[in-house]
Amino acid sequence: MSDFINGSAGGSGGGCGKEGGCGCGSQSNSGSDIASAADFLETGQPQTRRGFMKAAAALAMTTLAPGITLFAVGGGSAEARPLDEAASSKVRWGMLIDASKCDDGCTKCVSACSTENGWKDNGRPDTDAQWIRAVTLKNRKTGATQTLPMMCQHCEKPPCVDVCPTGASFKRADGIVLVNKHTCIGCRYCMMACPYGARSFIHEPLEDQKDYAPRGKGTVESCTLCVHRIDEGRLPACVETCNAEAGGALMFGDLNDPNSEISKRIATYASIELRSGLQLNTGVRYQNI
Ligand code: SF4
Ligand code: SF4
Repeated sequence: MSDFINGSAGGSGGGCGKEGGCGCGSQSNSGSDIASAADFLETGQPQTRRGFMKAAAALAMTTLAPGITLFAVGGGSAEARPLDEAASSKVRWGMLIDASKCDDGCTKCVSACSTENGWKDNGRPDTDAQWIRAVTLKNRKTGATQTLPMMCQHCEKPPCVDVCPTGASFKRADGIVLVNKHTCIGCRYCMMACPYGARSFIHEPLEDQKDYAPRGKGTVESCTLCVHRIDEGRLPACVETCNAEAGGALMFGDLNDPNSEISKRIATYASIELRSGLQLNTGVRYQNI
């Protein structure tokens, strides 16, 4: 842990996003102990935003019942939830990222998220929204580098929710942490509280929004775990793309189910939570860093 240093743990989404800076120090929150193991240091800005290893994964689709479909890609799966049924605490959605399968400089997951959710790089890295970013870790001793994706970690005990004065930041029963754009007042307390620099503030009017991913000037946003897809029994866009076009580094599934692929992988191979000392019990885990 102590061998990691932080630059700006990633991009525009990493800081408070306030033009000119608000002094909140949220960038540094990504801090020197951003990862909890290994001899790497995190370099500054992600060096690239596109690219990833080539590989393919089988896509299986099984209709379970009318309106309920199970998709499985690369070991991950999600079951569609009927629209009139509330999210259930029986499941806890999570993601496992095998950094050893991420190519240096690969950012296919970032591109997939941008395309899916409608945020984009406007060439203003200090203020552009960024729901997921590729960060590069560099080993202090050997100089070896490693790229891995960073996004909202969907904490079980999310500080962003704790500090939100309006309740706009909230956690669903199934563990997905979201922002209600209707009640977000843009105070950015959540951005200051997030230890992963995972949230972005929207400074400018938006066009061409996706109807399933509402956004708004003056509000805060972050990775939704592609909740619109999950509720339809589909995989998050980054996971689907990584499995189809890159190294298959991302696995999605139910952390509460000991028989899910993600749970079995976590039970079998060592994994870490970033900044595990904060005891947030993140829904996103990493292997091989
Ligand atoms: Fe909230 Fe940050 Fe945790 Fe996501 S990573 S749940 S934004 S504290
Ligand atoms: Fe983006 Fe969806 Fe992946 Fe989150 S789960 S980083 S919103 S593509």
